[in-house]
Amino acid sequence: MPRRLLPRRILAAIAFLAAPLATAGRCAADTPAVVASIAPLHSLVAGVMAGVGAPALLIRPGASPHAYAFKPSEARALRHAKVVFWIGEGLETFLARPLRSLSGEAVVVEMTRVPGVVLHRARAGGIWEGRADDRDHDHEGHNPHLWLDPVNAKAWVEAIARELTAADPANGAAYAANARAMRQRLDALIEELEAVLAPVRQRPYVVFHDAYHYFEARFRLNAVGSVAVSPDRPPGARRLIEIRDGLRARQAACLFAEPQFPPRLARTAIEGTGARLGTLDPLGAAIPNGPEMYFQLLRSLAADLGACLGGSTSR
Ligand SMILES: [Zn+2]
Repeated sequence: MPRRLLPRRILAAIAFLAAPLATAGRCAADTPAVVASIAPLHSLVAGVMAGVGAPALLIRPGASPHAYAFKPSEARALRHAKVVFWIGEGLETFLARPLRSLSGEAVVVEMTRVPGVVLHRARAGGIWEGRADDRDHDHEGHNPHLWLDPVNAKAWVEAIARELTAADPANGAAYAANARAMRQRLDALIEELEAVLAPVRQRPYVVFHDAYHYFEARFRLNAVGSVAVSPDRPPGARRLIEIRDGLRARQAACLFAEPQFPPRLARTAIEGTGARLGTLDPLGAAIPNGPEMYFQLLRSLAADLGACLGGSTSR
């Protein structure tokens, strides 16, 4: 009789469903394997995961995300990840293909596409070095260094908590509380940096590569040009002469090199211009990784800008 068969069928269905559910339940108790691409993004993910677990950092500190080669251990970390946070194809071009080939089990979050992020177009012309055909650095016409706007970081923290909660609902309350605290700290950071940068806001300066657009727009700074389109391509002699003329014409107070920029070239570029030499690092290679890294990175950018533009050479 169908009536008597029904309960048995339901029981079978429950047994069938219960096995994978039990496995999933055991997994949810552990934190899922989380990977973040660059150190500043890793820092924000680490902040949201505080007290629950720690994300893995994919790209070694100090290495350029624009031209990167995986170590076997890094490729393995990526293959085992359940949640991957990366900036996007405009920055970590090398990651696009490995991420596409990840199994359907991993959630891949491209931070460039998070709702609410501010995007700036790449600058070109004048003494900005920029070319539309530069696919390595800027795939879709956006400047890819969007982590340097702390308002973007606020949008990201919320998205990170959302994605982690979807992957690991058992710890959802902790992720939400951490995200709330991070957003408050980011608001305080913005206020703090406004005060640090206010006295030097008008001073014109030139950077090594156009990595600071988001920071400059947020804090209304007066950057007037960049030497190179990518940190992996040092400028030639003709470009250095253009820069020297540009520094003079704009009465730039400083030229900011980066750790990868040969100091000899930087000294040649400022010769006879009256500009001082400073250093900025958009990835904060010298700062220890972890939840505090992002805050230290933005503070050190503001301090290095302020020190050179304010009159003393930051070296
Ligand atoms: Zn860059």
